[in-house]
Amino acid sequence: MKKTTFAAAAILLLAALCPAQTPAGYEARFTDKALRVDLYQVGDAAGETLTVDAIYEEPLWPETRTRLVDPFGYGRYVLEIYDVASNALIYSRGFDTMFAEYKTTNPALEGTKRVFQRSVRFPEPKRPFLFVVEARDKKNLLHPVFSRTVDPADYHIIREAATAGDWIYEPVVSGDPRRTMDLVFLAEGYTAAGKDKFKADVDRMTQVLFATEPYKSAKARISIRAVFRPSPEKSMDEPRQRAYRKTVLSASFNAFDLDRYMLIERDHLMHEIAAQVPYDAIVVLVDSARYGGGSIAFDYCVTTTDHARSLEVFLHEMGHSFGGLADEYYASEVSYNDFYPKGVEPFEPNITALLDPADVKWKNLLSPGIGIPTEYGKDAEEALMAESRAKNKAAAEEIARAKERGADAAALKAIQDRLAAEDKEIKAKIAEIRKKYEGLADKVGVFEGAGYASKGLYRPQKVCLMIGNPKREFCAVCRKALTDMIDYFTGK
Ligand SMILES: [Zn+2]
Repeated sequence: MKKTTFAAAAILLLAALCPAQTPAGYEARFTDKALRVDLYQVGDAAGETLTVDAIYEEPLWPETRTRLVDPFGYGRYVLEIYDVASNALIYSRGFDTMFAEYKTTNPALEGTKRVFQRSVRFPEPKRPFLFVVEARDKKNLLHPVFSRTVDPADYHIIREAATAGDWIYEPVVSGDPRRTMDLVFLAEGYTAAGKDKFKADVDRMTQVLFATEPYKSAKARISIRAVFRPSPEKSMDEPRQRAYRKTVLSASFNAFDLDRYMLIERDHLMHEIAAQVPYDAIVVLVDSARYGGGSIAFDYCVTTTDHARSLEVFLHEMGHSFGGLADEYYASEVSYNDFYPKGVEPFEPNITALLDPADVKWKNLLSPGIGIPTEYGKDAEEALMAESRAKNKAAAEEIARAKERGADAAALKAIQDRLAAEDKEIKAKIAEIRKKYEGLADKVGVFEGAGYASKGLYRPQKVCLMIGNPKREFCAVCRKALTDMIDYFTGK
């Protein structure tokens, strides 16, 4: 009996010792608070420099406390925090920046340097730490671009109150922010008179979010909050229309000279406003009926509220910013692009370069017996579309020539009838192809055409919100990736 008790005690002692031998838990290394580092990133396509503007202490670290080392490998940058005394990596998280997109544009390639803001957050370490930022090269390999030692006791860290007197709306609070996925909506381009409209817009977006999988199934683990700071003027800047409005976050269309692309350059201020509530993900709503939006992965997404497609734009852009999902759409004439260099596997979960067809990125979700890559009549359909375009062009020319010759109405009608019959034939062939592959509608395979490229990049299903889907559904692979992210934030 005594011996047994001793053995039991030994087991208990061993159990008590074990945690000390494995990596220390959250409480041993971090306080309950967060640090926000406001960064500036300056450079062009050839090089970049990062600088720290200021470090702020925030009242609560609301993100994961269990998976402190990034389990995903997404994003063109990685933030790493090392404990100075032990040299141990104690926190890491992939992220993206507006500068990373700027780097791929023509002005950057021509050597024009620009500066962009980015705020990053991490749990506040208890001991001095090394703050490191690594950037991916064209082969997705990481290289350090910035490092600095920080003492969390340093009086340069700004410990002011997070509250700024803005109106806070909390329509859905599902529990302790440390164990829920916390979404915050920020108002942009709403005047003081637009407060009720902002509240109604938040409710509308919340409703569509909770009607869409996988958010629908995870509803009990998601909280929704909103912060309203009125703008002096309504909507946002539209440089191509020479329309400039004074708004809180200076949201602007025409980001990187792309008409419908809207981004926010005042990233530091956006995070300062959001910090008034616990949040894991930021969605900026812009009071406008124009079509468009944008996002920076693991930072924020932005959408207008009153276009007929605003709800899809919201779900699509949040797919990027929250889930780290890639665009699945492509242009038929673009065979590859600089955004995803040839021969390199993209880090996003929902597109693949299919470098090893025997080991598909989403192999666990593939439909049984599906072909890899999956033939779905794309090339034949595209060839017919091109033929149709060419024929239409030739037809217009033929009719113009006939008119010049002074052809009478009957002769013109004969030409038009012949051309219409030819066009009908092409359309029938396209319909035939679509019918042939109809059965693939719900199948998970490896469909060529994704990430802006017609060739060499593949997506999991024919349709998905990341390619544009009026049914407002994500494909199975995107649903899984979003579920994984919700689990990450809720400590599941
Ligand atoms: Zn998808």
